[in-house]
Amino acid sequence: MIDTIVAAATPPGRGGVAIVRVSGPAVPQIAVTLLGELPPARVATMASFRAGGTAGRAADDTAEGPGDIIDSGLALYFPAPHSYTGEHVLELHGHGGPVLVEALIRSALALGARRAQPGEFTQRAYLNGKLDLAQAEAVADLIDAASDAAARAAQRSLAGAFSSRVRALGQELGELRVLVEAAIDFADEGLDVLSDQSLQARLGAASTQLAALRAAGRQGRLLTEGMTVVIAGRPNAGKSSLLNRLAGHDAAIVTATPGTTRDVLRERIVIDGMPLHVLDTAGLRSATDEIEAEGIRRARAAMAVADRILFVIDAAADPAATGYLEEQALLPAGVPVTLLLNKIDQAAAAAAATAAAAVAAAAGGGEALAGAAAVTGGADVASLRISALTGEGFEALAAHLKSCMGFDPGATGVLSARARHLEALARVDACLVAAARLLAAHDAAELVAEELRRAQLALGEIVGSESSDDLLGRIFATFCIGK
Ligand code: GDP
Repeated sequence: MIDTIVAAATPPGRGGVAIVRVSGPAVPQIAVTLLGELPPARVATMASFRAGGTAGRAADDTAEGPGDIIDSGLALYFPAPHSYTGEHVLELHGHGGPVLVEALIRSALALGARRAQPGEFTQRAYLNGKLDLAQAEAVADLIDAASDAAARAAQRSLAGAFSSRVRALGQELGELRVLVEAAIDFADEGLDVLSDQSLQARLGAASTQLAALRAAGRQGRLLTEGMTVVIAGRPNAGKSSLLNRLAGHDAAIVTATPGTTRDVLRERIVIDGMPLHVLDTAGLRSATDEIEAEGIRRARAAMAVADRILFVIDAAADPAATGYLEEQALLPAGVPVTLLLNKIDQAAAAAAATAAAAVAAAAGGGEALAGAAAVTGGADVASLRISALTGEGFEALAAHLKSCMGFDPGATGVLSARARHLEALARVDACLVAAARLLAAHDAAELVAEELRRAQLALGEIVGSESSDDLLGRIFATFCIGK
């Protein structure tokens, strides 16, 4: 039995208007009790909101009793199935005070509703076929959008632009699979579909379509989820100062004593619409102190899953970049590194000899590092000169971060996408590559059909035609309550 859920749809706190939303089969009866009558469908109706049921009375008996007026405002009734959730929905738009909101919720609870879980309204919309899973996720992305570009991308995905391309691709793969399966069934009759060039051509076209979808999704993922960079380096190199300048406020404590940052600090900043999750890590050095050793362990764990490491070097005190050279072998393989030669203001202000050494170190160091990187498996290492104190070099740093993530602020048709979607699309790609290879080798048609079937399933996971309770639980748990 589907129950009835209630929650505030507006954020907690004081405001001009607060909205309480109720969804489920008990809505008509709740509306009649709270409002005196069922408001006309989809028409904003001025009404008094009256307390319902005995449980409406809070422990202190100055609170409302059944029939007392709690508030007055606009009532909106959306009979099923023409509502956000696809169920009967009642919205009460009252004065934006937390006490009033809670009293209205208590009344609905007394009349048989229960408090909604995060994202439960949208989950019901999904279960009732109002939205597919990718669209439901776009609702959350729209709410969480940190920039205009991210909001536009989420809007396009919510409107179904992403889902319809996923479905179109799924349908095409389904048709190809039917052809291949027909070839298996009618093999005796000499129907040689596998050597049919048009099948190969259609598979090639599907791969091209997939590549375009992945590119649009990757940009979208950068907008919604951003990239994670870890700031690493020796104590006192200027890591906290770098984080603070990137974040624009004092997120980490900056001191001149080595070893102050003992935990991993997280900051979310936005560069031209691209969110950047910056983790500042404890200075890397062999610690004697247990807490500091734990900090270093966490720093290493954070680095292993980062999109990029920003390795900070004190270019004034360590012009030969030994801080990096000594650490290099311990850095996780395959994570690209940008060397930030910091404190160039000091290097420049110092005696000419020191400055020259610093400049030579920046250039020469870059070469030596590139050479060393080749030894460790050709990891991608770039270097930039900055001053976390004066801000010099930060524009170049921002441009560098955007370009190394492939972020294109001018890209059009970007669709909001999540890591989950891109991972599924990558699996589709692997299946299509395998199918094309099997087809070219005139290999077993059964195997081609199986690859196509797996590709279709992966596409189904994106829009939710293939989903598990577990997946739904994880997706909707990140929503806010009342959505
Ligand atoms: P962390 O230990 O790597 O986090 O280093 P901090 O950010 O705490 O910086 C250590 C010291 O270096 C502080 O006194 C900072 O003010 C100073 N510092 C950081 N960046 C710069 C810079 O670009 N130029 C100069 N002159 N000093 C800096």
